[in-house]
Parts: sequence; structure tokens; C-alpha cells
Amino acid sequence: MRSSGTGRCSGSYDVVGLGFGPANLALAIALEEHRHPVTAAFFERQNTLGWHRGMLLPSAKMQVAFMKDLATFRNPTSRFSFVSYLHAKERLARFVNRQDFFPTRQEFHDYLQWAESAFTDRVTYGAEAVALRLPPRTDPAAPVDHVYVDVREGGGSGAVSTVAARNVVISTGLTPRMPVGIERDRRVWHSSEFLGRFGACDRAALKRVAVVGAGQSAAEVVRFLYDTLPGTTVYAILPSYGYSIAENTPFANEVFDASAVDDFHGGSQRAKDAIWRYHRNTNYSVVDDEVIKDLYQRAYDDEVSGDRRLEFVSLSRVTGVKDTGDATQVTVHSLVGDQAAEFAVDLVVCATGYDAMAPGGLLGDLDAHCARHQDGSHVVERDYRLATSSPLNCGIYVQGGTEHTHGLSSSLLSNVAVRGGEIADSIIGRLLGETGSASGTPAVPGNRR
Ligand SMILES: Cc1cc2nc3c(=O)[nH]c(=O)nc-3n(C[C@H](O)[C@H](O)[C@H](O)COP(=O)(O)OP(=O)(O)OC[C@H]3O[C@@H](n4cnc5c(N)ncnc54)[C@H](O)[C@@H]3O)c2cc1C
Repeated sequence: MRSSGTGRCSGSYDVVGLGFGPANLALAIALEEHRHPVTAAFFERQNTLGWHRGMLLPSAKMQVAFMKDLATFRNPTSRFSFVSYLHAKERLARFVNRQDFFPTRQEFHDYLQWAESAFTDRVTYGAEAVALRLPPRTDPAAPVDHVYVDVREGGGSGAVSTVAARNVVISTGLTPRMPVGIERDRRVWHSSEFLGRFGACDRAALKRVAVVGAGQSAAEVVRFLYDTLPGTTVYAILPSYGYSIAENTPFANEVFDASAVDDFHGGSQRAKDAIWRYHRNTNYSVVDDEVIKDLYQRAYDDEVSGDRRLEFVSLSRVTGVKDTGDATQVTVHSLVGDQAAEFAVDLVVCATGYDAMAPGGLLGDLDAHCARHQDGSHVVERDYRLATSSPLNCGIYVQGGTEHTHGLSSSLLSNVAVRGGEIADSIIGRLLGETGSASGTPAVPGNRR
């Protein structure tokens, strides 16, 4: 139940989730499976559930084992596990026969959609959260036990409506990052939009294409373009000498265990720095072994056949792009010889990564009540609640953007099941403590949409 405009608000929820990707889907499942019911509503900007759709390349595999799904690590008997999904789809035996822990990203997307179908009554799609704000008050010192969330439906010019929340969980995900000074245009794309734009372009016009970056997405796009566009030359522009392998061995993988979050959150700054220094090669700017070998083999095969169309431009950074009409001129600065070179291409894909979620943009005037570290980052408690000061009594939780407090798994899937459970426990525990009943908000008919 929502009011329109940014004025008064008539409906309220125990939990309002912003974004409905895997993180808030895992939270919705944890709330659903909790023994104390609460009212919850989720708002998602996209028109339907979509997990990095632009990079659902046909052969791309997950970088997390199938059991690190939305629920299993919190509740191994959950009906929302990946195994339950496989069973429902009658593929369990064949999935196991593959003898591979890693599904394709397309299959994982199908799993997410299957799980999401149980929550459509709680999610509003095409709805972008635009701001959090304090409700109007007569006594500025009085405790604030709910906040207003302004939501715009139907795109830029859509109407803004408002809901009240005892707790807000911000899970709005990563933001695509372009190289400094480079803007997207008709021939310059970010990898996050890759498949959508590739599907709509004139493939026959792509004779020379460049892919910028040395991470997993970059390597996957290079492989895809090389395989899909026979006759096209693919330039892989790498800041390094070559692709580096993603550390995926058993001891290193423990850095993604749920218990590692305790070590990180409770650890000294020195310990946190060391964890990042030693283990960032598990996920950042690294590529799966299989993809690296695939690319090397293709380049080698080209040499054998004498038809070379995979060019590695190593130790180089793109410093400029210019639309010259029928092509795009790319300026590349090479560390070797410290010199710049230019060449013309028909497409530039910047697989240059993402920025972590930053809740500040949504917090608005509430941010003044949120504690910050000396470096300006938010103080986030172990239960993912932003540390707030009086008079703010309600909970603002974050999933993502906690690399500085909770470590390497912050923006990944490894810990979504356990983290969702921890947030649900924290929210419901506090509601019970305050009111003696989990659903502390006055019952508003239709709240559980
Ligand atoms: C191509 C790619 C592959 C990946 N593969 C893996 C992998 O194999 N394993 C792994 O562990 N991690 C992987 N990751 C990391 C990724 O962050 C997680 O898989 C996962 O998406 C995190 O879930 P999330 O819900 O936090 O964020 P997201 O999946 O990004 O979901 C956030 C949602 O919030 C919505 N949103 C944003 N702003 C608003 C707003 N203001 N109002 C309403 N809605 C909003 C977005 O539309 C989006 O649907 C991958 C990332 C990429 C880019």
C-alpha cells in the first residue's frame, strides 16, 4: 500500500529491499523460511529479474560452486536450493553425471528465475528507488523508527510514490566502470551491455574489434567475438603482459567461507590489508584457467594456419577513442617504449570492471546520521547494518559495498545464503526485542503483496 508523491505515506513494511538481484532474493528466501513472519516489499529497477544479462554468453561458466546457491549454506533442506531446482527440472542425475561443480551462467540465471517465481507478490519491477528520507516530525529529537523510501515507477518521467520501512536493505549491485576519459557511444560499449548491443548491431560491419581489459569478462568477450565473427580481427588490449589465472585452489577458496567474514570484520586493519593483498587474485582482474588456455590455443592455431586474427596488445592502456565517421580511432599507450599508437576499429568493448555498491547516493539526508570511518567509508556492523546515531532507530542494511568491513565476498554470490539469514535474524531479533512480535508494524491489509 503506497501513497503517491513525495509527501505523506500511508503504507509500511517491516523490510523494504532495494534491488532484486541474487542478494535480496536470498534475503527474501531467508525471511520466508524464518519462523517469525514479517511484512516485506522489494523494488527492482529492471522490468523483470535479470542477472547480468549482457554477459550471459553461451559457454560462460559460474565462478562459484553450485551449492553456494541462494539457500543451501544457510538451510541445506531449503526448497530453494540449486539441487531442488535441478530436481524440479528433472536434470539432477544428468547434472551430476557432468562431474562438474560449475553450472553455466545461463543455467544459473534459469535457477534464479525459478526461485524468483515464488516471490512475485512481493516485488515491484520497473521501480527504481530514488531516495531515502526522514518522515516529517514535530520533535526533531524523537526516535525515528521508520524511514520513507521514494520509488519511481515507469522510467525517468514516471510517478514517484513513497513507502515507509522499519528496515531498508540496499542491494543495488555493482556499477559498470569505463576507462578514464572514455565515454560510451554507438561503437564504444561496456561489457555489461554486451549481448544486448551485439544482438542489435550489424555483425557484417565488424571487421576489426577491440576488447579492453584483462579480467574474466574481457577474456570471455574476446573468445566470444573470435568464435562468432569468422574473418574478424580481435584486438585484446591488456594492461598486463597477459591474462593472469584466478586462484581457485582449496586453501585460497576458504577466504570466501562464511567464517572468513568473522575473521575479516573482527580483524585489525593490518589483517584486512593482508587478506586483500594475498587473496585479491581469487577474483579481481583474473581469468579462469580454462578460458586462458582456450584463448592461447586459438592464437596458436592461427599461427599454424597462417591466418592470424587474434592480436594481444600487451602492457597497454586505451587513452582515447574518437569516432571518425565510418570507424573509431583508438589511441593506445604502451608501457613498452612508453609510446602511443593509433588504430581504427569497428567496435570497442570496455570490459574494465565495476565499482562497488555505494549506498551514499540513496541515503540522502539520512547519511548525516550514519557513522563513517576516517577514510569516508561507512561503518558497517557485523550484521550488515549501517552504524547510525540517534534519533535513527530503524535499520539500514547493505548487501555489497562492504569490501572494507566484510571482505572479499561482499559483492559475490559465495555468501548470499548465509548473509541473507544473518540479516533476517538481525532484523527479526530487533523487531521482537522492540515489540514482542516480529511484525512490529501495524497490520496493513495487503502489505504482503
Ligand atoms: C558478468 C558477471 C558475472 C559474475 N559471475 C559471478 C560468479 O560466477 N560468482 C560470483 O560469486 N559472483 C559473480 N559476479 C559478481 C556479482 O556481483 C554477483 O554475481 C551478484 O550479481 C551479486 O548480487 P546482487 O544482488 O548484490 O547484485 P546484482 O545482481 O547487481 O543485483 C542488483 C539489482 O539491483 C537493481 N538496482 C540497482 N539500482 C537500483 C535502484 N536504485 N532501485 C531499484 N533497483 C535497483 C539492479 O537492476 C539489479 O537487478 C559476477 C558479476 C558479473 C558482472
